[in-house]
Amino acid sequence: MQDFPDPEPGPGEVVVRMRASGMCGSDLHFYRGTASFGGGKDTIQGHEPCGEVHAVGPGVTADMASVGDRVMIHHYWGCDACEHCRSGWPQMCDRENGHTLSITTHGGHAPYMVVPARTLLPLPDALSYKAGAAIGCGTGTAWGGIKRLGNIGGATLVVMGQGLVGLSGTMFASALGARVIAVDVRDARLDRAREFGASEVINSAEVDLTEAMADLTGGRGAEVILETSGVAGADALKILGKWGRACFIGLPGDVSFRTEQQYKKQWTLMTSWTMSTIEQARCANFVVAHQLPVDRIFTHSWSLDHAVEAYQWFDEQADGKGVFEF
Ligand SMILES: [Zn+2]
Ligand SMILES: [Zn+2]
Repeated sequence: MQDFPDPEPGPGEVVVRMRASGMCGSDLHFYRGTASFGGGKDTIQGHEPCGEVHAVGPGVTADMASVGDRVMIHHYWGCDACEHCRSGWPQMCDRENGHTLSITTHGGHAPYMVVPARTLLPLPDALSYKAGAAIGCGTGTAWGGIKRLGNIGGATLVVMGQGLVGLSGTMFASALGARVIAVDVRDARLDRAREFGASEVINSAEVDLTEAMADLTGGRGAEVILETSGVAGADALKILGKWGRACFIGLPGDVSFRTEQQYKKQWTLMTSWTMSTIEQARCANFVVAHQLPVDRIFTHSWSLDHAVEAYQWFDEQADGKGVFEF
């Protein structure tokens, strides 16, 4: 825990009064010192912030932000000029002056945070601040992966891993009309997966995954897979059927295949990195329209005073999802 001065908004910036700041699985890479990308001890953590506009800097018009607006934040910004920034993907900015909350600039685990006004997205009235926080990374990442996979209505879709992202993936895929088979190694997570829409569940620590999938699909295997665990890439390819599509989200991930053994399966394999600004907003609207229980993804709520305890809890069991509420 460290003290920092409250930020002031510069040109084009806003200060957001934090209302909810989620704890994301990727925080643990920093907490444990195992991150392969940036981040430092003097950077405020939290890249799932949600709150209300507290102050606006010079040049921020009412169209962009006004004090009191309920806002989500897309947790990256870039040059605003390259093709990726312009298409809503500032995390893919071609220039090297991009920022990511909690890595290159202060994040949301603090009462106030300063960001460029262009990172703000409206938080629909029907959504809680903590739902907006989840959509800012973990839940939005699941949405982004599902969108990459294309049409999944009616498909048999396997979600590998039922952590924060996987559980959200189960929820979205089910709402979009897929038959969802949830895979994990913990029964408690699989019980939650059923609550969030999984038709069937497989505990891959207890039964043979390939056999269980063959039983559930008449030997055809999965039509679509969302891999969120970061450790089940090889398992995913074992159960992916002909014409299968798979999206690999979980890190670190290890996926390999020999073309000569697999090419007749006509697979489409892809990766996905969080979501665009536009898809973050669409994700929020979808959650509202389908009344999805995003709030229930959070199992623990903490005040910032208990941040040390909160991260010890998160580090020890890496299960459930915590949020700081202000
Ligand atoms: Zn750019
Ligand atoms: Zn995250």
